[in-house]
Amino acid sequence: MKHLLSLVAIIMALLVPQSINARTGVNYAPSASAFTVETNSDAQQVKLRIYNDGLGGKPVKTVNMKHSPSSNTLWQATVKGDLKGKFYTFDVKYGGKFRGECPGIWATAVGVNGKRGAIVDMDETNPHGWDNDKRPDIAANDLILYEMHHRDFSIDESGGFSNKGKFLALTEPRAIEHLKELGVNAVHILPSFDYASVDETRLDQPQYNWGYDPLNYNVPEGGYSTDPCKPEVRIREFKQMVQALHKAGIKVILDVVYNHTWNIDGSNFQRTRPDYFYRKNADGTYSNGSGCGNETASEREAMREFMVESVKYWVEEYHIDGFRFDLMGVHDIETMNAIRKALPNDIFIYGEGWSAGSCAYTGELAMKANIGRMPGIAAFSDEMRDALRGPWDSNSKAAFLGGVKGNEESIKFGIVGAIRHHGIDYSQVNYSKAPYALEPTQMIAYVSCHDDMCLVDRLKASIKDITMDELIRLDLMAQTVVMTSQGVPFMLSGEEMLRDKKGVHNSFESPDSINHLDWDNLERYPQVMEYYKNLIAMRKAHPAFHMGSADMVRRNLDFLPGGNCLVAYHINGRNVPGETWGDIYVAFNAHKRARTIEIPAGEYTVVTRNIKCDPAGITTVRSDGKVTIPAQSALILHN
Ligand code: CA
Repeated sequence: MKHLLSLVAIIMALLVPQSINARTGVNYAPSASAFTVETNSDAQQVKLRIYNDGLGGKPVKTVNMKHSPSSNTLWQATVKGDLKGKFYTFDVKYGGKFRGECPGIWATAVGVNGKRGAIVDMDETNPHGWDNDKRPDIAANDLILYEMHHRDFSIDESGGFSNKGKFLALTEPRAIEHLKELGVNAVHILPSFDYASVDETRLDQPQYNWGYDPLNYNVPEGGYSTDPCKPEVRIREFKQMVQALHKAGIKVILDVVYNHTWNIDGSNFQRTRPDYFYRKNADGTYSNGSGCGNETASEREAMREFMVESVKYWVEEYHIDGFRFDLMGVHDIETMNAIRKALPNDIFIYGEGWSAGSCAYTGELAMKANIGRMPGIAAFSDEMRDALRGPWDSNSKAAFLGGVKGNEESIKFGIVGAIRHHGIDYSQVNYSKAPYALEPTQMIAYVSCHDDMCLVDRLKASIKDITMDELIRLDLMAQTVVMTSQGVPFMLSGEEMLRDKKGVHNSFESPDSINHLDWDNLERYPQVMEYYKNLIAMRKAHPAFHMGSADMVRRNLDFLPGGNCLVAYHINGRNVPGETWGDIYVAFNAHKRARTIEIPAGEYTVVTRNIKCDPAGITTVRSDGKVTIPAQSALILHN
């Protein structure tokens, strides 16, 4: 039996196709390096050039690659000698014209600005102890996501970081202690693969970009490393970041942008396989479902395979814990399900369940409304977000937080995690007239993210003459809605220190003065951080707020009569495994005056009221059948 099993294993190994990595990049060995590139079948010639440097200089070797004997789309070359430390490009000829040099689609290391592939021994990039690095074990319903940009987080002097704007900032005690104190357990880092818009040769000058302009999908961004000219440095530093966060029990989630590339003609896709990877309209123009000038074609075999292999690579090589898919609605359902299937169950997957324009695809796209057909994949809830802060197509329109009635059902939709629930009138929900999540962990609950105004700016822009007191009350109430939602809560980095972006709603290339976190705000507004951390601690300690199962939510959560600008519900904690509280009442009052709701007479412990949250209890109240919710705030109590 034992022999039979090992025979099966050998046969299986022979049947498994070579990984894309080995097929379309470089396979390094000290004696020789094997290069492979995949082209369209009408490619006429492929040149491989070897360089001493990542940028500039003449090639030290030029090789005409040869067709693989087994395929008319694979080209191969083997270069003898130890090429470690060298760089390479491919240049493919179609119709008598070379498309231009590029590192190919599967470079795992590149030179400065990502123009050339780099030959690196990946084992040498592992920090000390990397073999023992493990993904923290946190269930989807226990996650608390913190969306951050490396430069926002650590660039300002007030942060006191040594590695300002770098991956390494997240290894510093200042960062780790702050994140742990706040209580978030997953950082979602804005694009951290190699992107185009920051010139890595002049990092001495301030440059800023969110990074939604992909260049090399399988290499960390050089601008966040201490030396982008040394290809192994960014790889090692990225791993050090992951390792430090993992040690602190914090997951690392990568924002991935497979839906479009920086440009078409210069992209690695287009230079190796022209027009294969992009969708086109009937008139031959490129479709632009991304709003960025192009859109990739996930439904095509090699694009789908590329996405699957790319995320697997980040998990295996960098120990990444999850992925946030930018404009997931540009991709097809089948690809997203293939990605889900290819990754371990604990890898958390979510995305924007929309596109930024119409897509040239007639099949079904991974839109929010189709989430029910993508089990194990979540989507951002713009229903709840906009019901709280106001609609996405305006910066100045207010909603629930501004005392605008009619948003209650959309907030309830977000409270239950976008599942079917008897207490919601779906006809009154702003964007979705039906539930879309099978389980509450398929919905991301949030009120702000990098896109659009941050919460402080939005409150200022949408509520006339707002006072500081009002702003803080509404900010805290908004995050309480998020952090008590049965969906997976998500917050924008810096909200805990009342960040603002001076009213700039699309700060993708704004200077540091707009985007940076001002760490001194922690001392200016200590009540905000205090509330946030207690709120998060309360969520973590009480499974009633993150039951993780649609059936359990339907059985144990009931809405109470509210009215305009008042949403209230009851959770029967006794039926929730691990819950120590009995009857839990949660209410949100957006009125400028106190309101009451009816709850059974008896004694209750108040854990959230006004601008205070304390899971151990603020005070006790005796209800005579009614309880008062102060103006513009959340109230949580239990017995
Ligand atoms: Ca770059």
